[in-house]
Order: sequence, then C-alpha cells, then structure tokens
Amino acid sequence: MNSALPRPDPPAGEPPWLSVVLPCYNEEAVIAETHRRVSAVCAAVGRTYELVVVNDGSRDGTWAELVRLAGNDPHLVAVNLARNHGHQLALTAGLHYARGQRVLIMDADLQDPPELLPEMLRKMDEGVDVVYAQRRSRPGDAPLKRLFCAVYYRLLRAVADTYIPLDTGDFRLISGRVRDLLVAMPERQRFIRGMVSWVGFRQEPVFYDRDARFAGETKYPFRKLVALAIDGVISSTLKPLSFALVVGGVAVTIGLALAAYALLSWLFVGKTPQGWTSLLITVIFLGGIQLLVLGVLGEYLGRIHEQVRSRPLFVVDSVVRGVGARET
Ligand code: UDP
Ligand code: MG
Repeated sequence: MNSALPRPDPPAGEPPWLSVVLPCYNEEAVIAETHRRVSAVCAAVGRTYELVVVNDGSRDGTWAELVRLAGNDPHLVAVNLARNHGHQLALTAGLHYARGQRVLIMDADLQDPPELLPEMLRKMDEGVDVVYAQRRSRPGDAPLKRLFCAVYYRLLRAVADTYIPLDTGDFRLISGRVRDLLVAMPERQRFIRGMVSWVGFRQEPVFYDRDARFAGETKYPFRKLVALAIDGVISSTLKPLSFALVVGGVAVTIGLALAAYALLSWLFVGKTPQGWTSLLITVIFLGGIQLLVLGVLGEYLGRIHEQVRSRPLFVVDSVVRGVGARET
C-alpha cells in the first residue's frame, strides 16, 4: 500500500552534490532575496548544487517569480503543485525531486539563515547523517507562539516513542540515504521532523538564533499550528490510546467505590444518600471522558481512513528547470 508517488525520471546529466529544498506558499515578496542569499552560500561551497523550490499552490505571484528566476539560473528546479497541499507535503514533493548526496531543508522566508550551511556540511563530513538546526532563541516569532512551541516541544519529547529534539523545526541537512528513506515512507500525515528522528543514524545539532521573516507574514496561523501539533503527537506515538485505557480504568475504579458506598448506605443506614449534585457531576464527568476518548480514537481512525484511500501525496502541475550558463 504505497501511496507515495514514484520518483520522477531524473533529467540527463550528473546529479548535483548538494540540493536545497525550499517549500513556498505566497512568498512572492521574499523568494528573489532567498534565491540570492541561498545561491551565494551554495556557490561558496564550491560543489555542484541545485535549488528545488516548490510552489505550494500560492495565490500570489510566487510562481511567476520562480519562472522568471529560472530564466537565468541553471541551478533552479521549480516545481509547481496543483494546489495548496500544506508545508509538510510541499517539503515531501521537494524531497522527491532533490537528487543531491546531501539535502538542505529550509523555509523560504529566511527565518532560517542559509549561512549556517558550511557548519552543517562540516558536521556531516564527520559522519553525521542528520544535522538539525536547534534554536537558541527565536526573537523573530510572536511571544504567544514561542510559548506554545516551547511547551509543545517538551510535551512531544515526553510522549514520543523516538527522541525528538527540543526547539527544532524542519531546518536541517540530511544525507542522501535519509532522503531516500523519507521518500519511501508512504504515510500521509507527515510530521517530517518526527519521521527523521525515527530513521536513526547519527543526528546532531548546530545552534542558531531564529530571525524574523524577511518579508510577508506567517503562513502558519494558530489553526495550522495546532493541526501540525496534533499530527506530531499522533504520528510519533500510540500513547494517547493507552491514556484512554488508563482514564477509563480510573473512572471504573471510582465508579465501583461509589457504587459500594451507595449500596452499603442503603443497606445499613437505611436511606440512600442525597445525590442530585453528585449524580449530575458524575454524569457530566463520565460523558466528557467518553467523548474525549472517542475523539482520540477518531483522530487515529481518520488517519487510517486517509491512508487506506491511498491517494497520491501531492499532485504536480509542472516543473520548470532553470536555463543559462552553468558555472559550477
Ligand atoms: N509553507 C508552505 N505551504 C503552506 C504553509 C507554509 O509551503 O501551506 C511554507 C512557507 O512558505 C515557508 C514555510 O512553509 O517557507 C514555513 O512557513 P512560515 O514561515 O509561514 O511558518 P512560521 O515560520 O511562521 O512557523
Ligand atoms: Mg517562517
């Protein structure tokens, strides 16, 4: 049941040594500057490289801008998705097209400084398969978002079955074999940083301070952030299901104790305890727990349903490969 798309036929010629994958959604105001800064960093490395930029169904002029940039940059591979598939799937599409032995994943808004690349490459030279960029601070994000993320990463680490590093987004350098493994994973609800942790091998951090966006505004409103957070937990552990069992067990124990109390007072005291308030609380409490547990089951069930349908993870409209003199 493999719902991942087959890898696209590679174009003729040697694959580049380094790929940079950049998903973008409505990044018209940023993309030219990102292209300039990332290209400068890649050129300085002195090896062959490609920039795989995925346009995730933008409603603004991002695609037109990419086509324009591809007009005189042979390193650029611009992939246009048929609609907005969301950040994690856009990233997945980019990984499908990336051919390098090393793949840098970063956001297109320059919150992740591309200048970290040389340090990441050095780490990888030491035999590390995943060099993830861990945020020392994130002055560029709103205080409420920082708080939400800080609490969430700690919660996730506590429940996840594999070690998921704190304060780390998708900004990372991965080896070709990790890329191949990610591409081969057919799961739909993709929480890429959790999937990378699952792969194993040597994974080590480099530290950085997260800038503010270069331009434009966040494409992760609170709603999407919460959806990603739920995906993160559910794709990393089955513990919420065991949690349901524990809560159910506790409720049954309390229920039995109360039943014994009620029966004994009826038998020996001769009257039943007064009970409208306690009855109401019990009914509401038990009803709440049941709905909560059903909700948890539903989250897993919905994902199974999506997975069983086996639709392709994303749909590609067109791919434009850059042209111009290639100097590396
Ligand atoms: N993004 C995307 N599809 C989406 C939402 C976001 O490809 O549906 C891209 C976006 O263009 C950016 C990256 O994902 O390159 C991270 O998004 P953003 O910077 O808005 O998130 P934040 O840094 O605010 O958490
Ligand atoms: Mg951002």
